[in-house]
Amino acid sequence: MSLWNASLAVMSGLLLSAYAHPVWLLGAAGAWAAAAAFVPRAYRGRLAVYSFLSILAGLYFYGYEILQQSEMKPLAAQERTVWVRGEIASGVKRDGDVARFFADVGQWREEGESWQQLGLNETIVLRVKLSAAEEAAAVEKWRTGSELVALARLGLPQGARNPHAFDYARYLHWQGVHVVAETAFRDARVEAAASIQGSFQEWQKAGAERIESLFADRETAGYMKSLLLGLGQDVTPELESMYANLGLSHVLAISGLHVTLVTSMFMWCLDRLGVSRRWGLFATVSLLVGYVLLVGASASAVRSGLMGGVGLVCQVAGKRLDGKEVWAGALLVMLAVNPYQLWHVGFQLSFAVTLGLILFVPYSLHVFERVPVWIRTLVAVTFSAQLVSFPFLIYHFHQFSPLSWLVNLLATPVLSLLVLPLGYIAIVLALVHPALAAVPVWLTTRLLGWIHEPLYALDQQVIPFTYWPHPKWWWLLLYACFLGMLPILWNRGYHRKQDVALCLALFLGLLVAARQPLAGSDEVRITFLDVGQGDSIVVEIGTEKVYLMDAGGTMRHPAAEPWMEKRDPFEVGKDVVLPFLMARGIEKIDRAIMTHGDLDHIGGMEALVSRFSFGEVLVNGQVPEAKEAQIRELFRERGVPITTGTPGQVWSDGPEIEWKWLHPGETTLRGNDASVVLQLTAYNKTVLFTGDIERSGEAVLVQNGLSPVDVLKVAHHGSNTSSTEELLAATAPKAAVISAGVNNRYGHPAVQVLQRLGKYGTTIYRTDRHGAITLIISPAGLSWNTQQLDT
Ligand SMILES: [Zn+2]
Repeated sequence: MSLWNASLAVMSGLLLSAYAHPVWLLGAAGAWAAAAAFVPRAYRGRLAVYSFLSILAGLYFYGYEILQQSEMKPLAAQERTVWVRGEIASGVKRDGDVARFFADVGQWREEGESWQQLGLNETIVLRVKLSAAEEAAAVEKWRTGSELVALARLGLPQGARNPHAFDYARYLHWQGVHVVAETAFRDARVEAAASIQGSFQEWQKAGAERIESLFADRETAGYMKSLLLGLGQDVTPELESMYANLGLSHVLAISGLHVTLVTSMFMWCLDRLGVSRRWGLFATVSLLVGYVLLVGASASAVRSGLMGGVGLVCQVAGKRLDGKEVWAGALLVMLAVNPYQLWHVGFQLSFAVTLGLILFVPYSLHVFERVPVWIRTLVAVTFSAQLVSFPFLIYHFHQFSPLSWLVNLLATPVLSLLVLPLGYIAIVLALVHPALAAVPVWLTTRLLGWIHEPLYALDQQVIPFTYWPHPKWWWLLLYACFLGMLPILWNRGYHRKQDVALCLALFLGLLVAARQPLAGSDEVRITFLDVGQGDSIVVEIGTEKVYLMDAGGTMRHPAAEPWMEKRDPFEVGKDVVLPFLMARGIEKIDRAIMTHGDLDHIGGMEALVSRFSFGEVLVNGQVPEAKEAQIRELFRERGVPITTGTPGQVWSDGPEIEWKWLHPGETTLRGNDASVVLQLTAYNKTVLFTGDIERSGEAVLVQNGLSPVDVLKVAHHGSNTSSTEELLAATAPKAAVISAGVNNRYGHPAVQVLQRLGKYGTTIYRTDRHGAITLIISPAGLSWNTQQLDT
């Protein structure tokens, strides 16, 4: 039996348990029985063992699910406020005036009643609101293992409110968490208790402080804290986004390289000191365990630690090991501890890329034999990692820069082979005397400067083929088969020129398929995004044209005090509209429309200007004020033409698809009443987009002549000042979409508007209830999709 095959059997067992009906167990049992009776003797044993293993893994998964069931979920569904007692179960992360961590809860009680014991400890996410700088300082001293009692308001985690958006509820589910809770600092009592993780967090903190004292520049210090200690939260958002855009994020994950580097530096020192091999090995493995705990035991750190440890032991014992077997062993150990890890992005990427390196890099030794080995290895490592990480990155992040391979080829060696070791050397030297660290600190700072400057410049460019649509499951399967086939074909002797050419052609075919060039080519897809209180509508006309009508906006309240400032505050353009456009694989917006200057419509545009290429921007022709003027300037700097329309103006985006500009024209109306109003007719269905127009604007529209529509984008979030009887009588909409925030403070949509619409039998879709709403118009008719079921 090989661990490699066992790992495949176990993974398929886990996946089947998660997604297939439990009946699959019978199928696998059948295979097991068939092995005994019908299968030729040679295969009998193996088939039996592996089907048994996958059954075992499947049962293990079902059992694990039962242990993860939540007793507190019913309380959370009612949003009850209760006392909880337990202990802190993770590092405490503070961002401005909120601290967040996992807590293991053992007991709960209502105010004034006695404690109730939970059957099993349950992990929840606890958010602690802070109201003073002293509280922030106190929270940063909280460690894993400390005892906690808090009066907390329970709730259920939020699912994704927009297509392909980050799904917090699902993310937490795979962390074994089903309940989130919020408390205030004054309602929480924490009593320090010693724990192993707590001590390591203490040391990590001390290391972080040392790095801060060594690197004067804040960006560099934050970067080095992530690179050396796995402390990601101090990396500046600009740097983080640049690394993500260019495909460099992996540099900041603790990986095999770190482990190799740290252990070899340590072993070199031991060797100098004349320590025997056996004791050296013992010391190094202990160091490895400590190191993994110190950097926060992320999936990739644990994987590297496990594989590194086994590698070390074998090296000393003089045994040769198959990389694939070590990989599979580490995978099995980690999945045995927590099978949910199979759904963690970090786990997937770390194991997949490592496997890619194990499988593909050795072949580089057989080609281009005149090129020096180190160049061949570097190129092979880069391309293997790119090839394997591609499906994971486009699946989770919808982003893969076509320049990623080049950036990685040039920047990664410098970052990993110079900056990383220099950083560790600086820390070690600083332990002896801070002055000794001066040279490595200076060198790393300069190196980072040289590398990051051109990368930032590159990141400012809009590079085509950077955003990838959310991949289909069959594409993922095909891609995996393609990668799996490569080494098999090679080993069978298929490496003549024509074989290589065929493989390249297949690969290009897969890349083209990943762009989904034909998907929805004969339909108009209109997505009313849930941007909270505001508007943002994406209209995709086949695969030809993209319109973005408004982009929502987030009111920024400047932090009252410096300590309250969030590292990367939520902003709807960057955090909702951008991810959606990326997940649709949209790179060019042919027309961006700013219906009017209100922040809840145009604020989000700011984050998008530098991330897409724009054909033109349509505005309402009024003199822009504050924010709008600023955003127009950004467009102008990029050479995007800004134009306006006149009532009655018509343009076409293909047969049976026609736009009409209805409003405004020459007018004395201002503000909401001067919103751009467009009418789209596609395949004989009509959609009316009304911006925030109110009574006076609607009167003008009715005067100019309106015809019945199929779908009405209800004006001004369903405010009672819009959607007048006259407008509704003229348009008699069959369906209406209202874009309003959950529990918004204006009480939108107004009951009166809902009643008025009700009179026409209009079907109402609301972003506050349904999340994003997708309307697809095709020659066959209309179809609707909502992100969330009505509640
Ligand atoms: Zn508005």
